[in-house]
Amino acid sequence: GFKCGIVGLPNVGKSTLFNALTETAAAQAANYPFCTIEPNVGEVAVPDPRLEKLAAIAKSGQIIPTRLTFVDIAGLVRGASKGEGLGNQFLANIREVDAIAHVVRCFEDSDITHVEGKIAPLADIETIETELMLADLDSLEKRVDNLTKKAKGNDKDAKEQLDLVNRTLVLLREGKPARLVERKAEEERAFGMLGLLSSKPVLYVCNVEEGSAATGNSFSQAVQEQAAKEGAVAVVISAKIESEIATISREERADFLETLGLEEAGLDRLIRAGYTLLDLITYFTVGPKEARAWTIYRGTKAPGAAGVIHTDFEKGFIRAETIAYDDYVALGGEAGARDAGKLRLEGKEYVVADGDVMHFRFNT
Ligand code: GDP
Repeated sequence: GFKCGIVGLPNVGKSTLFNALTETAAAQAANYPFCTIEPNVGEVAVPDPRLEKLAAIAKSGQIIPTRLTFVDIAGLVRGASKGEGLGNQFLANIREVDAIAHVVRCFEDSDITHVEGKIAPLADIETIETELMLADLDSLEKRVDNLTKKAKGNDKDAKEQLDLVNRTLVLLREGKPARLVERKAEEERAFGMLGLLSSKPVLYVCNVEEGSAATGNSFSQAVQEQAAKEGAVAVVISAKIESEIATISREERADFLETLGLEEAGLDRLIRAGYTLLDLITYFTVGPKEARAWTIYRGTKAPGAAGVIHTDFEKGFIRAETIAYDDYVALGGEAGARDAGKLRLEGKEYVVADGDVMHFRFNT
């Protein structure tokens, strides 16, 4: 599944947010199997009203939403790249995630110490980004000698890698994150193999006081402007409100949110922002036993989508019976869609669309 790491300086509200998200998710998902929650790893069900609709039409016995994994990565402080705080542990954890949710303190509270002495979200962002870039600089510099030797021996792959590494080093030395390196499509794989921390997509989470949850404040506004400049995404959340939401029932939630001027819980907004950031979409498998949602990258072809369910589905892929979500709903399910000629047989080159209802045929 897709993993999102929650990072940020100490005392910005990471744990409060993480606990709220996983508690809310656990409460929502009480009926769903496989809801494993470890101390710092939480699986969050992705809310999707389409799934309930499909399940109602197919009279599915069970609804299984798709999930995103959140990892609470503590211990990032100034100097982490040099081993301060939890240093290397932190860096190892962050290497394993697909995206970073960077929590930024945008609330004032004299009772809660700010590690850098004052509330300054843009400076905090820079502190964290600098640690990620320093760690990348370090890991790339360690590779250069070895690659240079290989490249001299006329190793074509090594030459190409060295070129990519050197271009990345130039950028990092200018204080720019690795994600900004210009690269050709055929270099993307090698780039991914470098496992660079500053290449991960970032979502800024502005933690504001309760009164500013709907509107944001001047701090969160500064972060949002910065995010817009970088082509990044920022969401405004009050970790305090999220922890209150975690304690009330689903029925009470709508009223509670309304009194705060909010349309939906931060969890839902965060997940949606994560989907946008990672360019993810959802497809469905629907039957009498269960209706289930699956997450894939936009642009994934049918065999790759099947592989999310099981690697055998991908290896032995023959074709995918596919019904667009709107057709499935409008025609009252699979039989209706089939009769109306809306059940398509798609092959290996089919690019899966968001909302597709799919049934895979495969050889074992
Ligand atoms: P972490 O170190 O980033 O994980 O931060 P915590 O989640 O442990 O929060 C640090 C302190 O800030 C705790 O005492 C929280 O109750 C408090 N806190 C978190 N979010 C908010 C907020 O939005 N407003 C206020 N006033 N306090 C908060």
